[in-house]
Amino acid sequence: MTENALTRLRERHGVAGDQHVSAMFEKEKALTVNEIYQSIQGESTWAGERCVFVRLTFCDLRCSYCDTEYAFYEGKKASFKEIVDRVASFQCQLVEITGGEPLLQKNVLPLMSILCDAGHTVLLETSGAHDISKVDPRAHRIMDLKTPGSGEVEKNLWSNIDHLTKRDELKFVMGSREDYEWSCDKVRKFDLTNRCRAVLFSPIFGRIDPRQIVEWILADKLDVRFQLQMHKFIWTPTQRGV
Ligand code: SF4
Repeated sequence: MTENALTRLRERHGVAGDQHVSAMFEKEKALTVNEIYQSIQGESTWAGERCVFVRLTFCDLRCSYCDTEYAFYEGKKASFKEIVDRVASFQCQLVEITGGEPLLQKNVLPLMSILCDAGHTVLLETSGAHDISKVDPRAHRIMDLKTPGSGEVEKNLWSNIDHLTKRDELKFVMGSREDYEWSCDKVRKFDLTNRCRAVLFSPIFGRIDPRQIVEWILADKLDVRFQLQMHKFIWTPTQRGV
């Protein structure tokens, strides 16, 4: 619907026209979705819980370890109603909005509010390269700070750190001692363990021995949470939709 057509509707129907216009906008609200499926949450303090994943299309980063390149472009438009109905069909409390980079699509903000209104625990997984301040405060943000090994360290939006709260989690994905030391430096500099619900240290799958990172954490007496990408151990590492 063009802006002219909307103006005509408003002129013709006054307030009632505005309501009509709002209803039409609601109907037209949509997102480009890569996949919606249920699995086990694997990369946060909710790890191990049943979770519905809404994977949105598009990402503007190209991390060296990305395992969801299929979400860069593949996807179909889905209305809010279609998304909410599909999520509801799994009868699951926990819902994670992931990608790609979900915050590239502005309609993700009202979708998260709708899911919160419906009583879901909503998690947002985001790269940390986009403003998180507009996210519904009822949602939990699981934000990356991209390490040097990702190849995208310059994309970190540092102002996001000011918006993190005790509801949120901050994730560092690391593949080397350099990544680990970079992460430790940021944890100390921004007092991240006191600012967030959890600071997550994850090894890049296949690039570094997980035990190595655990030994460094223990040696340095860090109060961070080590984690593995659980789904890669339950299914094959390249399996989609899990
Ligand atoms: S931000 Fe996530 S989806 Fe985008 S390239 Fe990096 S790992 Fe892949």
